[in-house]
Amino acid sequence: MVRKIVVKSQLAVRTCDESHYYKREIAVSGQRSVGSKKWESEFSPTGIALIPNTYFLDKKANFVKIKKIVFSLHQFAHAQHAKGKLMTQTPPESAVILFDGTDLSNWTSLDGSEPGWQVEGDAMLVVPRSGDVISKETFTDHFVHVEFRCPDMPEATGQAKGNSGVFLQGRYEVQVLDSYGIEVPGMGDCGSIYNQFAPLVNACKPPLEWQTYDITFRAPRFNDAGEMTEGPRITVIQNGLVIINNAQLAGTTGGSIDSEASTPGPLKLQDHGNDVRYRNIWAVSLPLEGSDQY
Ligand code: MG
Repeated sequence: MVRKIVVKSQLAVRTCDESHYYKREIAVSGQRSVGSKKWESEFSPTGIALIPNTYFLDKKANFVKIKKIVFSLHQFAHAQHAKGKLMTQTPPESAVILFDGTDLSNWTSLDGSEPGWQVEGDAMLVVPRSGDVISKETFTDHFVHVEFRCPDMPEATGQAKGNSGVFLQGRYEVQVLDSYGIEVPGMGDCGSIYNQFAPLVNACKPPLEWQTYDITFRAPRFNDAGEMTEGPRITVIQNGLVIINNAQLAGTTGGSIDSEASTPGPLKLQDHGNDVRYRNIWAVSLPLEGSDQY
């Protein structure tokens, strides 16, 4: 059964379709009206209040004690973001700055020529059909922070809806797509390791909102004969939520710059013909292993 909770305040009237949301128990006690300032600060971006000790007006304008506040995991990610819990937006001193809003001097096209993408404000944006761009810096094991924004393409569906991609070493794609609101995201949706692993949850924000990827990459290992002994591993945190948990890949994804290789590789951003934007891109190279001392 679908039950709608109508939340009213001086600021907003919103509805929530319970069938689409995970349930969180929040104790509700006491009886008072909702102060507009607190109401505003405690609102999740989609309008579902997260405050205990409040009452809501139902459709008939009765005060109703709400025992369950429901919100989705992607909304939870919003709330975390809004409260500034993301720790990685400021690069550490050891970071290699790949794009800080200034220019594309750290990037080339695949053939080494000047990239065809543009800089607008603090973002770099795909110029459709100008081709992918790759960082001049290359990486083995590393951590990378990327912020991205999908265009609003309400008529488009599936892989045509705000498609781009972040390729670790230019070989392994973390999909960028407008997958907002998809209940069970698949192996082609935003946050997937393309066609290999679906994200654990949908952490997507709506199109036109900036989102974050914090990606930890462990490069594949090879023996002296050049045979791969361990596949590459990827962990992805999107908007503060873990969506890929140390997944070991079977091999490169479609769109790789080359076949499986032990050489360092660049960060690649995909031109899939859509107006996707990126900003605040930086990476930290990681040692291949720690000390063997206690
Ligand atoms: Mg893509």
